[in-house]
Amino acid sequence: MVPDYQFVGATNMREHNQLYIDGAWRDPLQPSVLERTDPATGKVTGRVALGGEADVDAAVAAADRAFASYSQTTPQERIELLERILVEFDARTEDLVQAVTEELGAPVALARGAHLPSGRVQIATAIETLKTYPFTEMRGTTEIRKEALGVAALITPWNFPVLQPVGKTVSALAAGCTVVFKPAQLTPYSALILAEIMHAAGVPAGVFNLVNGRGSVIGKKLSSHPDVGMVSFTGSLPAATEISIAAAPTAKRVTSELGGKSPHILLPDADLNVAVNTAMNWLMAMTGQLCSAPSRTIVPRSRLEEFLNVLVPAVEAIRVGDPRAETTAMGPLVSAEQWDIVQGYIRKGIDEGARLVAGGLGKPEGLEAGHFAKPTVFADVTNSMTIAREEIFGPVMSVIAYDTVEEAIQIANDSPFGLAGYVTGSDPAAAHAVAEKIRAGYIIINDTDFDWSAPWGGYKQSGNGREFGPDGMEEYLETKVVRA
Ligand code: NAD
Repeated sequence: MVPDYQFVGATNMREHNQLYIDGAWRDPLQPSVLERTDPATGKVTGRVALGGEADVDAAVAAADRAFASYSQTTPQERIELLERILVEFDARTEDLVQAVTEELGAPVALARGAHLPSGRVQIATAIETLKTYPFTEMRGTTEIRKEALGVAALITPWNFPVLQPVGKTVSALAAGCTVVFKPAQLTPYSALILAEIMHAAGVPAGVFNLVNGRGSVIGKKLSSHPDVGMVSFTGSLPAATEISIAAAPTAKRVTSELGGKSPHILLPDADLNVAVNTAMNWLMAMTGQLCSAPSRTIVPRSRLEEFLNVLVPAVEAIRVGDPRAETTAMGPLVSAEQWDIVQGYIRKGIDEGARLVAGGLGKPEGLEAGHFAKPTVFADVTNSMTIAREEIFGPVMSVIAYDTVEEAIQIANDSPFGLAGYVTGSDPAAAHAVAEKIRAGYIIINDTDFDWSAPWGGYKQSGNGREFGPDGMEEYLETKVVRA
């Protein structure tokens, strides 16, 4: 599969030497520099300043000062602020598309069609939420008030660098909280643009602060800081564990959105083209780097070969290549480390006896410079194999056969995770009945679109709490009772 176009590559070197603290761009107090490389070419695309613990102290102090007045703003004042943020966000849409393509390697069409809209919807939903949300209610003669919790630390992963930061930020701001945002090291460009958006929108000094840096330094300091009221975290379970431990002595609220190994059950009457679309849209298009990717496909044994006959040609036809090309369907993995991890899992799948029916080890022909992986499908997977139990975060599908629908549901739920689930079936009532039995936070039936304003979060080891929409805002609220 040799690409029939020239790589464009990054055109401008990005240089960002400052952090955004207390309403201004400032030199880090403890500077260090991160070089970011292009996932598609391996070439350096920019240098970004990272902060240290002293910068966290400065950012938290600014957020703490700003909380005194910002938490007292009316919902109407916050609506007006969010409306200005929406205007500035729209003005920077194309800059964000380019940033996501450059730092994550997301195909430009995916950045434009999924990354940006899923972020935008968060701002629009926060505005709508504030228009009707009952911050005060009477229960009999007792007043129940919802009040801003305090300074919120927002710690995000790299795989959805617009959705996660924007979703957390606007939920916190809608609630009346002030924030210190620490993005993933691999995706700093979109985070810097988000800070520029906040500044241009006139967000008051100290209400939004950005400290780029390492999880082990900035994230750790934020998680233990006595003046931080809560941590909203999205990422891996090991990092969530460290954050929870660091946050425990100061009794912080910690919400966590973690990984998944989401099942996709094909019912006996499934339309196989619909099932293949689910795999293409939510596993392969994202290069598998989606927490809710349908990575375990659970198929009636009697239809297994029929399914593979539809799936495999579709997987082999995926246009893998330069994310800057408008026609590319699947970009590279985010980093060399991620590529190594994915290769390790493909090797494990082969060694543990799964049947490789598409893709496999190595890079697609002609794409050796970047972190490209082959879209890969394993059949004859059992649910106890490593590739069925662990999150791969790459374009690797495990196909598991079942004999009865009860067994399919049992396989779906036999996982430490419970983030999402997918059901494909021609009888809506039967598909819905199966959806009800999957223990996960978000179920998609017959390749329906995600609603990015609906509550997002997992069961079991996929997390704790919900984000986006009204449920997401409530994570940033305290409850107070007043009796008179
Ligand atoms: P990660 O846990 O390595 O890092 C996430 C963030 O935490 C980064 O900003 C990192 O710097 C920071 N961090 C790391 N160690 C820390 C520590 N000890 N203290 C404080 N902060 C720390 O995850 P990742 O590799 O960036 O992202 C991939 C993971 O995120 C996958 O498991 C994926 O499933 C998950 N994810 C979940 C959701 C969801 O909504 N459930 C969404 C996207 C990604």
